[in-house]
Amino acid sequence: MKKFFAVIVTLIVTTAAFATVLASAYVGNSNTHKFHYADCSSVGKMNPAHKVIFNTRDEAVNAGYVPCKRCKP
Ligand SMILES: [Zn+2]
Repeated sequence: MKKFFAVIVTLIVTTAAFATVLASAYVGNSNTHKFHYADCSSVGKMNPAHKVIFNTRDEAVNAGYVPCKRCKP
């Protein structure tokens, strides 16, 4: 029974983490000051320490970030 709960908790945590990524529309790189759509291939290669989440495009622009030339957010 304990194993069952462990599986359920893992599932909830994984789903929540996935939902957070989907909910964050834009991801900035604090190193290059560029921002991307969350599904841009550059985001996958980005150092997690440099990831900055933006909920809106304006938020990213106002923070001084420039749009990625590949995904053109
Ligand atoms: Zn990009």
